[in-house]
Amino acid sequence: MSAHRNYINGAWVESAAAPILDRNPSDIDDVVGSYAAADAAQTRRAIEAARAAFPAWSRSSIQERADLLDAVGSRILARAQEIGRLLAREEGKTLKEAVGETMRAGHVFKFHAGQALRITGELVDSPRKGVSVTVQREPLGVIGIITPWNFPIAIPAWKIAPALAYANCVVFKPASLVPGCAHVVAELLADCGCPPGVFNLLVGSGREVGDAIVNAPEVDAISFTGSVETGRALATRAVAGMKKIQLEMGGKNPLIVLDDADLDNAVECAVQGAFYSTGQRCTATSRVIVTPGIYGRFRHALLARTTALVVGDALDEKTQIGPAVDAAQLKTDLDYIAVGQKEGARLVVGGERQPAPKNGFYIQPTVFEDVHNQMRIAREEIFGPVVSLLRAQDYEEALATANDTPFGLSGGICTTSLKHADHFRRNAQVGLAMINAPTAGVDYHVPFGGVKGSSYGSREQGAYAVEFYTRVKTVYTNANIAG
Ligand code: ADP
Repeated sequence: MSAHRNYINGAWVESAAAPILDRNPSDIDDVVGSYAAADAAQTRRAIEAARAAFPAWSRSSIQERADLLDAVGSRILARAQEIGRLLAREEGKTLKEAVGETMRAGHVFKFHAGQALRITGELVDSPRKGVSVTVQREPLGVIGIITPWNFPIAIPAWKIAPALAYANCVVFKPASLVPGCAHVVAELLADCGCPPGVFNLLVGSGREVGDAIVNAPEVDAISFTGSVETGRALATRAVAGMKKIQLEMGGKNPLIVLDDADLDNAVECAVQGAFYSTGQRCTATSRVIVTPGIYGRFRHALLARTTALVVGDALDEKTQIGPAVDAAQLKTDLDYIAVGQKEGARLVVGGERQPAPKNGFYIQPTVFEDVHNQMRIAREEIFGPVVSLLRAQDYEEALATANDTPFGLSGGICTTSLKHADHFRRNAQVGLAMINAPTAGVDYHVPFGGVKGSSYGSREQGAYAVEFYTRVKTVYTNANIAG
């Protein structure tokens, strides 16, 4: 199998290093593809190419950029089934979820095609007569984009599309577990006429390629989504290099279920939020905080729904929960389950590796109860299909528990009380507040991000992406001149 190559300065480039094998987590004997591993020298070349391409690209017309992004979006949508299949095969989320994610990536490109046409500034009067001030937006330059494995096409799309829309050049390093979707994005950009150097793909390790991007003085900004540890380490170096930075990291997202909740909807929110995409979402529900009047009925219905979930091969139409992404994530999930038991939480459903249809990393959806909020399983992000039930006497205690966490990405409440829903909307310490809706699942045209330890820097997605991918210049024009 010849390795798929990296894309540097408009050319597909081979590598001398051993290639990265992309394996199917539903069946580890299935090799999805082989991908050339870029090294630090190739990363330098890509950064230099991006730098060299920037002056012309920063002066490109808004129509040129809109047309490019629109064409990429159309092609992604036209090939959504095929790309979705590749995504499910390399990441392990179900085919339905993978096709949905692919469609979303297509819509993201089309949305930002429109945004390229809507770059505006301000005209402001000056206190000085005959003097006017304009505030105009400019691109930053070269953006380093570093992405995780859990949304192999949507996250790259929601960083790359606005970066290009606002006339920046891109050096893109995807997670090594999911090079396939990243490669598709690069192919489409190349096929749709993206000029050489404007977009570069480097599949490779965080230590070699990621470090070279973060340390390069020619890179003006870093947009990162991934783990808290990597994000923190990277931020320190990026700031030392005076780069603009945006980090999206973990969550420990609460869902409050009050006595007056619609029971069916609450159970649906919990199951969807906790287990879909195998719990491998930074917005996944991991703490369900329930008041006494509904606890028994909610617990009963949640356990019944959880036990009935079909775990299996991501490509099987009947599968509702795919495998963990790799052996390391599966081990993390099982280790946390052991930690929970040791801490005195009661395992009520799941907790084991799932007897597999194939040789994959299957794990049972897992529910703990008798969890208190200081236990490690209630404080640390697991990133697997594991949810904890916590009890609260009333809404006030539930909210205090929900907010008692170092994270603050998403949080939800299930209630028919307008008073509590409104109070939650105002007082939940989160970036995404969900009322009678799962903690996961936001649209592409609205801002995404969290507070506290979950995020750093300006919001991603929608019209708010302009804040990160541009800076403003203040321009004075004095009309008080002769002639
Ligand atoms: P995840 O497990 O969600 O992929 P990581 O934080 O481990 O989270 O990785 C997120 C991205 O950051 C990946 O593309 C990874 O290769 C990259 N990465 C890891 N280490 C570094 C590093 N030292 N510098 C830059 N990028 C890194």
